[in-house]
Amino acid sequence: MSGSLTVIGLGPGNAAQVTPEALAAIEAGEDFFGYGPYVDRLNLRDDQRRHASDNREEISRAEAALMLAAKGGRVCVVSGGDAGVFAMAAAVCEAIEAGPAEWREIHFSVVPGITAMLAVAARVGAPLGHDFCAISLSDNLKPWELIEKRLIAAAEAGFVMAFYNPVSKARPHQLSRAFDVLRAHLPGSVTVVFGRAAGRPDERMRIEPLSNAHSDMADMATCIIVGSTETRLIERPGQAPLVYSPRSAGKI
Ligand code: SAH
Repeated sequence: MSGSLTVIGLGPGNAAQVTPEALAAIEAGEDFFGYGPYVDRLNLRDDQRRHASDNREEISRAEAALMLAAKGGRVCVVSGGDAGVFAMAAAVCEAIEAGPAEWREIHFSVVPGITAMLAVAARVGAPLGHDFCAISLSDNLKPWELIEKRLIAAAEAGFVMAFYNPVSKARPHQLSRAFDVLRAHLPGSVTVVFGRAAGRPDERMRIEPLSNAHSDMADMATCIIVGSTETRLIERPGQAPLVYSPRSAGKI
């Protein structure tokens, strides 16, 4: 008998940004797989089991969850933000595609969550108000050359960009390199938002022109939004500036 596997996005970090749908799915789950800090966010009952693992073990975690679901369990896999944005939903789909036929009989569903770029954008105004793209700067799963190619294409096409995974201990220099690539294709006046730990007690928003943007301004908990040449900054007395990308953005 096949069980169910639900991949749940827990939002950027505060309880108010977990959706009612996610809460209901957690309530109904029996076994919870995920990166330790995300599993720690769940207020599990004594009859619910946690299977926390390291951040890098996405496919083996997906396989373990699928094996349990195939035996009839009500299994949940949790991710921060949205589960489908640089997170576990794609890893589970990949495991289903490569795995035994019985995994395709599992009731599979994804519960969306508020992804980091939306949480950050909401804090500063509406920088994603017009066309935008999201790029992970992690080269764990793709070559750095491809990331540079995408940065240049996005800059030339006039997209606002949201960067996930901007730095890690293993890649200390790549964010500097990314800013250098962008400075060669965009004016230095373009607005860059460093949104750290959105929705958490240690949240910090910083706004800089691209000319000043520096890798020291970001860490692993930062989502960076790089504006387009159309993105506007409104200074306000006594309040943080507003950043927005107007609806009329875009010239050929
Ligand atoms: N699934 C997640 C993204 C996971 S990738 C989501 O949808 O948000 C991990 C990256 O997400 C981090 O390196 C950082 O760039 C970003 N991130 C996650 N939570 C964040 C938060 N609360 N504030 C800012 N950025 C965050």
